[in-house]
Amino acid sequence: MKDAPTLAEAVAEVGREMAAHRGEGRVADYIPALARVDPNRFGLAVITVDGETAEFGDAWVPFSIQSISKVFTLALALERVGEGLWTRVGREPSGSRFNSIVQLEAEGGVPRNPFINAGAIVTTDAVLDSRTPEVAIAEIRDFLRRLSGVETIDIDAEVARSEAETGFRNASLANFLRAFGNLKSPVADVLETYFSQCAIRITCRQLARAGLFLAREGLDPLNGARVLSPEHARRINAIMMTCGHYDASGEFAFQVGLPGKSGVGGGILTIVPDRAAVAVWSPGLNEVGNSQVGTLALERLAAKMGWSVF
Ligand code: GLN
Repeated sequence: MKDAPTLAEAVAEVGREMAAHRGEGRVADYIPALARVDPNRFGLAVITVDGETAEFGDAWVPFSIQSISKVFTLALALERVGEGLWTRVGREPSGSRFNSIVQLEAEGGVPRNPFINAGAIVTTDAVLDSRTPEVAIAEIRDFLRRLSGVETIDIDAEVARSEAETGFRNASLANFLRAFGNLKSPVADVLETYFSQCAIRITCRQLARAGLFLAREGLDPLNGARVLSPEHARRINAIMMTCGHYDASGEFAFQVGLPGKSGVGGGILTIVPDRAAVAVWSPGLNEVGNSQVGTLALERLAAKMGWSVF
């Protein structure tokens, strides 16, 4: 039997295997500024709890974090309001598209989970906490800077503007939530904060590093800083597993077997509890809105490394 590959070998093998798939999927074009991204990009970065790293391809090229930001906003919202957050947002998979509005009416303005757009708009409102968007946006950005150790992480103003100009569906969701009394701040403030957090530019390398605390129950294993309580970290992983890929969350759990969160920029952050954090980026999306090649790369990497929570 062949020996199990080292991390470096597995990452290099996956990178080579993905060459045949480059460009697959469709780049998100409903946000005009995202439509211009080169579909042939592919980056992969792994960082282990011992600080070992392995990278492939465009691991150092910044991309739009989009919905992966929802993981970090949820962490901040839980720290700010604690368990009370769960009266405003649920934790069940939605079985619908990420920007769906139908469930919200039937379920009285309480979104199914914090990773669909409606739910993230509520967690963003919780972080905003009646402050100004500038303060909340800086808090979210600084959280990512602190976690990644990279002071230059910032918001892509063009992407934020592009989404603000075309984000009628998110505006509908926010107005709907407000009508149900589930937003405290003005709709315009919540949307400005939401669009800005989605427009953060980050590389695979920085994203994997930023997510590493989730592999160690809320403790940053490389600098010993307590980022989040173990309870909250465990819950974020649970919701990543059950809701992180929208209507394909079951498929991701089946194929990859790890908590993960995707974004329409083509990135995916995946947590290997007690071992590592992995970030992958390939802009082409499948029909559900998750990175097509990124998902395949994670499937292959998890299989080669024997990683699974099951
Ligand atoms: N900013 C995007 C939106 O609100 C995020 C969606 C996503 O990444 N799935 O539509």
